[in-house]
Amino acid sequence: MSTRAASVAMHWIDGKWVDSDEHRDSVNPATGEVIGSYAMGGPKEAQAAIEAAKRAFADPAWRTDRLLRARVLNRMADRFEERADDLVELLGLENGKTHDQGRMEVAFAPETLRFNAALALTDTGTNSGVTEGELSLVVRQPVGVAGIIAPWNSPVALGIRSLAPALAAGCTAVMNLPRQTAQTNSLIAELVGETEELQPGVANTITGGHVTGDVLVRSPDVPTISFTGSTATGKQISAAASENLKRVGLELGGKTPLILFEDADLESALPIVVSALIVFSGQFCMTGSRLLVHERIAGRVRTELAARLRAMKVGPASDPDSEMGPIIDKPNVERIDTIVEDAIRAGATVIVRGGPITDGPLAAGAFYRPTLLEVQDNSISIVQDEVFGPVLVMKTFATEAEAIAMANDSNYGLSASVFSRDVDIPLRVALALESGSVWVNDWAKLHDQFEEGGFKGSGVGRMRGFAVMDDFIEFKHIRLQPGTTPAV
Ligand code: NAD
Repeated sequence: MSTRAASVAMHWIDGKWVDSDEHRDSVNPATGEVIGSYAMGGPKEAQAAIEAAKRAFADPAWRTDRLLRARVLNRMADRFEERADDLVELLGLENGKTHDQGRMEVAFAPETLRFNAALALTDTGTNSGVTEGELSLVVRQPVGVAGIIAPWNSPVALGIRSLAPALAAGCTAVMNLPRQTAQTNSLIAELVGETEELQPGVANTITGGHVTGDVLVRSPDVPTISFTGSTATGKQISAAASENLKRVGLELGGKTPLILFEDADLESALPIVVSALIVFSGQFCMTGSRLLVHERIAGRVRTELAARLRAMKVGPASDPDSEMGPIIDKPNVERIDTIVEDAIRAGATVIVRGGPITDGPLAAGAFYRPTLLEVQDNSISIVQDEVFGPVLVMKTFATEAEAIAMANDSNYGLSASVFSRDVDIPLRVALALESGSVWVNDWAKLHDQFEEGGFKGSGVGRMRGFAVMDDFIEFKHIRLQPGTTPAV
């Protein structure tokens, strides 16, 4: 375990640990106990980090040396692997993730760093002529200081998902990580910041909130923002960033439909449906929150799914038998339960009520048992709005066209799953879904070489894949008249 986790968790700015005037407590959501303290960033720290990143960008050493950037990113990947157990431990303690789910998150970081190290070396540029005697070159140049804002639900995977392409592109960066994961942020800052050959100011990490995030978004010295968070915040950031016409990559909320066709293999599909609901306690942008079931298998699905959810072992990460950890804090437990109560009042039928754990040894923690409701009306809030908790809403359908229409009847379009043993249905349905990712007989499988992002209210732009660089690059056309016109 990092010794840093036991002391005050600080910011990493300009190659140094930096404290703040304000210290706050970090809390274990499974017990309510204080596990450490952290420096809470404000405008001063955000501005200092921007200045450091600006100075580092002005020095050509980083932005002009691809070999250096690839070496640094690969070494950073090694460091995340070497300290994976510490990260998993902290995510359990501070973020409530079971160790299996923590390992799932942490495994993304080295893969993403190595993919982007490779991307840094793949730019071969383009050149071409339009008429005889002239030549055009298109060069890709880093845009400058990248502002990165990540949410508390997966700070390791999501912080690195934006940081790695920014650094690979030759940008310098300021990463604003959330207060709920301050201890984890500090270890991320150490693994990133203390990497050999990384110059001071290239990668700065602060723990803050909307105030520090807003400084990044409004700063004229930060030409690009890579944001992961809710759709509501994404809209605010997009509006504020437009004052300086800066580019904004937005990875936002979701309301993932899981579509079970009549011929689905339920033995394998139902455990996936359960995982889609309970991984990260339903606090995952891709949480499977809408279950669309063919009417002829609905009876079996109701019974078998209810049994699986009732048997779910909810508990702290410190208990190896726990299958699902706590919610991030008690106010969010109350918020989720109010949404469920409102849905029941709006006509939803209870199949498994779940809800807050108020008795016994888990009562001090922010635990919420998984809940399954059934609805007739696709327009009610529980179907349309992201809950960000382990609440699944079931609805039946009769035809493929009806299933597609229901799945697309949403302002979100992040991801979807289709379960069927047919050879034609899955691809036909996948092509018709308004969704950035579609899994067939699976859920939430992501790879760095393939683009990830949202349609509609789920985002703008793409993370991962070759498109990942676009948020951090300017294209420049240089036309040459090299004097090769043939002599007369
Ligand atoms: P949030 O939008 O409330 O906050 C995200 C981050 O933005 C926080 O660190 C916060 O400090 C900062 N922030 C808030 N207001 C800001 C402002 N006006 N200006 C600048 N920064 C601001 O989201 P959250 O509750 O932390 O995270 C949950 C949300 O994130 C869910 O909607 C979830 O679906 C989404 N999410 C999306 C993805 C994805 O890849 N699409 C991944 C994970 C989470």
